[in-house]
Amino acid sequence: MALDQGLGTDRLLAGDVVGHDGPQHLQLPVLQHVLLLPARGDWHSSRQSASLAVVQPGAGRSGSWQLVADRVWRAVAEPDSVTVAVVAGEEAALVVDPGSTPEQGRALRAEAEELTGLPVRGAVATHAHSDHAFGLAAFDDLTTWGHEGLAEALRAEPARTAARRLGLDPAALAAPNRPFALAAGVDLGGRWVELAHLGEGHTTSDVVVVVADAGVVLVGDLLESAGPPWWGEDSAPDAWPATLDAVLGLLAGGRVRALPGHGPALSFSDALLQRGQVAAVAGEIERLLVAGTPVEQAAAQGSWPFPVEHVAAGVPTGYRRLTERGVRPSRDLPITPVRRPD
Ligand SMILES: [Zn+2]
Repeated sequence: MALDQGLGTDRLLAGDVVGHDGPQHLQLPVLQHVLLLPARGDWHSSRQSASLAVVQPGAGRSGSWQLVADRVWRAVAEPDSVTVAVVAGEEAALVVDPGSTPEQGRALRAEAEELTGLPVRGAVATHAHSDHAFGLAAFDDLTTWGHEGLAEALRAEPARTAARRLGLDPAALAAPNRPFALAAGVDLGGRWVELAHLGEGHTTSDVVVVVADAGVVLVGDLLESAGPPWWGEDSAPDAWPATLDAVLGLLAGGRVRALPGHGPALSFSDALLQRGQVAAVAGEIERLLVAGTPVEQAAAQGSWPFPVEHVAAGVPTGYRRLTERGVRPSRDLPITPVRRPD
């Protein structure tokens, strides 16, 4: 992918974007990966080909975790069947999407230590939604990473409502204490984990977690395999396809697979198909706006590649974003003149 000002290159150059956790490391690991790397490692080794059984964390049994790549484990946390993951290096472990409550986060932290026999370095949230970010508070004495937009998102009313639905005091939610705009690297000892905001999509603050040597990228809800993806008020329908192009760039060559926030790993072709469907949603929102369809009727009148309930909440947001870019209803029909035969 090409880096541009929209991804914060100006701020990167100013030194306030990429976080380093090993003072001796002066490279920009994420950018190297995104721009240059075919990842090392082979997903198809015998250790990595275990099936992706759905398992539950919280029972205190490390055996409930499923190895999905070299020293990368997955479990599924309720109530939203979200994928939580543990990535281990030689010296420390990282928890990705640490559950739906601080209590669940504490349980996952204990299980990660038991599972790996290593201290937990910290946790990363792929975006602000309750099932991915509400367990961060259990790691607040360590380092917690996430996009810089999470702090505001976790203070906003939708997050507060979600917290109350889970029986939580909204004040108990914790934003990442190491926020970043573009990228960060986590040194686990003999293994770098790369965190990158590849652009807006499912939310405006999505990040992916790249474990290049294991051939896996955790993509949060930018892609889903348990069902269709979801559009919400905080989605960026117009930007989502290009962000998935960057994800597809990581997957190209077949040596890296995407592990979504819900469901098992996706192949390149699965991800490519879903990228096309996400683009179809973006195109349909723009078509409806340009055709003058009132926003309150747009979801019902649109033609979608997924059940309308997956898309509907994102349609007004899509209208707003397009309007801010100057897209307007047009009475001009797209007619191409045809020369009449003599
Ligand atoms: Zn989500």
